[in-house]
Amino acid sequence: MDTPEGPYTLDTDWLIAADGARSGIRTAMGLQMEGASYEGFFVIADIRIDLPYPTERRAYFDPDWNRGNTILMHREPHGIWRVDYQLPPGETPEQALRPESMKQRIDAQLAMIGHAGAEWDMDWCSVYSARTLTLPDYVHGRVIFTGDAAHLLPIFGVRGANTAFQDAQSLAWHLAFVLKGLAGPALLANHSAERVGAAREIIDEAGKSTRFMAPPSRGFRLLRDAVLSLSLTQAFVRPLYHWRTSRPHEYSASVLNSPGDDNALFTAGPAHGAPPQNVRLAPDDFLLDHLGGGFELLYFTEGVALPNALLRVVQATRARGVPLRVTAVGAAAPVAGADLALPDVDGHLRARYGVQASGAAYLLRPDQHVCARWLTLDATRLQAALNTALPP
Ligand SMILES: Cc1cc2nc3c(=O)[nH]c(=O)nc-3n(C[C@H](O)[C@H](O)[C@H](O)COP(=O)(O)OP(=O)(O)OC[C@H]3O[C@@H](n4cnc5c(N)ncnc54)[C@H](O)[C@@H]3O)c2cc1C
Repeated sequence: MDTPEGPYTLDTDWLIAADGARSGIRTAMGLQMEGASYEGFFVIADIRIDLPYPTERRAYFDPDWNRGNTILMHREPHGIWRVDYQLPPGETPEQALRPESMKQRIDAQLAMIGHAGAEWDMDWCSVYSARTLTLPDYVHGRVIFTGDAAHLLPIFGVRGANTAFQDAQSLAWHLAFVLKGLAGPALLANHSAERVGAAREIIDEAGKSTRFMAPPSRGFRLLRDAVLSLSLTQAFVRPLYHWRTSRPHEYSASVLNSPGDDNALFTAGPAHGAPPQNVRLAPDDFLLDHLGGGFELLYFTEGVALPNALLRVVQATRARGVPLRVTAVGAAAPVAGADLALPDVDGHLRARYGVQASGAAYLLRPDQHVCARWLTLDATRLQAALNTALPP
């Protein structure tokens, strides 16, 4: 490590490489990212100005002052507006960031939207290009890559930081369980497979947004222009330019999903690998507020106690250090053996989760994604699901 105070050596059992897009650790290990880099640069300028527009992203395609290119504007806190504009082909970042060039273009944009001569100050500016790159594996021995060090997602999907948080949420529990000896290296391999899968899905989606904002060929431009002109009168094409795509990835192919459960038999509710749907239980009372940070068994029952055999599996699991909570759903009174009871008086939760009878259950992983669900749960099936979710 190098610091202003001088270099020093740090010993560590594990290293999480969260050192950003230019990751020195990735370079030092000689790892290559896979994917595409798009041509063309965008200038990004934060200007201080008072504009009477709501807080939403505004996109201007092919304006007179910047033919063939796209401009984005949105409000930020503290009186700042962000203006992104695409540069004409061949212009270098150095040319684009010259103050007189920026002033001319930002003034032209302001004039186009009816604010000619408006006063503004530059707060910050930079240049970027869109890239859709990921390492094919995030776990290399005891070095684990996360965030921009692991993948570079195009800005038009607004997913880079969101995805970095999701990486961290996933890594935290996978690594903690391995460090505590509750699962083996296969769990970390799963973290990598799930998060690389998420990055590739985002790359697909955000790649579409990128091609819409900055069409790389005549064909893409034709399609983009057709969508824009048709969308003025035809509602069916409007979703084609809905490029705010942020949502959690569903780990539907995860090896932690229980193969012997009833996932395929459910007609509603979150499936294998999906995050749980939130459900309003009462005024100001929601399902997600009740979930903990470990494994969570949502057990649907109208009885007064958990079945003994089930309780024994729960207790044995906890005895070996696995955090597992049981939330009973649907009973009028507290349920013996459950940590919490949610009455679900109007039956909303059961309906949304596709549950018709007592004895159904969902098992959520510590990141709350579903890894098993049953129309009828018994001790053997619960044990099998826990074994699958915590591979040796
Ligand atoms: C203009 C712009 C707009 C964006 N808008 C959005 C958006 O709207 N939504 C969104 O989700 N994402 C957005 N992103 C992407 C988002 O900023 C990044 O994806 C996110 O910051 C990645 O987080 P990170 O922690 O992985 O990396 P970084 O934020 O880059 O953090 C890495 C840190 O590691 C430090 N570091 C590096 N090397 C070392 C070292 N050797 N020792 C110690 N420290 C080191 C760096 O100084 C840095 O602080 C945007 C990005 C840009 C450029």
